[in-house]
Amino acid sequence: MGGIDPQTIKGFLTPEEGAALGDAARESGTLGPVLEIGAYCGRSAAYLGPAAKAAGTILYSLDHHRGSEENQPGWEWHDPELMDEQAGTLDTLPSFRRTMARADLEDSVVALIGPSRTISRHWTTPLGMVFIDGGHTMKAAFEDYRGWASKVLPGGVLAIHDVFPNPADGGRPPYEIYCKALASGLFEQINLVQSLVFLRRLG
Ligand code: MG
Repeated sequence: MGGIDPQTIKGFLTPEEGAALGDAARESGTLGPVLEIGAYCGRSAAYLGPAAKAAGTILYSLDHHRGSEENQPGWEWHDPELMDEQAGTLDTLPSFRRTMARADLEDSVVALIGPSRTISRHWTTPLGMVFIDGGHTMKAAFEDYRGWASKVLPGGVLAIHDVFPNPADGGRPPYEIYCKALASGLFEQINLVQSLVFLRRLG
């Protein structure tokens, strides 16, 4: 894992989910680069980065680094240590950069800093794997799905985090885009690890 334990980094991905992400990226990274939406402090990148490197490719790690809705002050998943007091909002980029340096991943992880929708609109490189772990509003989740699912190469993998079929377990939008991906006929499910679902893009 690049010399660090990703679980020591702030984040929400479990060790089991992280290991499964790494396995998927090692395999699908041979088709093309890996891209994640929702970098936060770099925990998932610490799993995906070394795997992408092992596959001979890189990880693009996309985030506006201002935190999702649920990370803002007054919300359940807010961490005051990540506040940028001047901006009055979160700034997870310094923490992300420290993680990449500590994990020795600065040559194999490229940070994309900006809105997912803006970047996807101009993105033309086909991808071996896309990992959606961004905002949980319906708007954010659907923009991530619409913007990025079509960039996955045939045989490649679309992974979605926080998929909760039972509404009592968590918010619906990631589950909704998972259903949409299956209903599209373009993806088949190949794995499910806790709330992390893996879909393969059909040829
Ligand atoms: Mg998540």
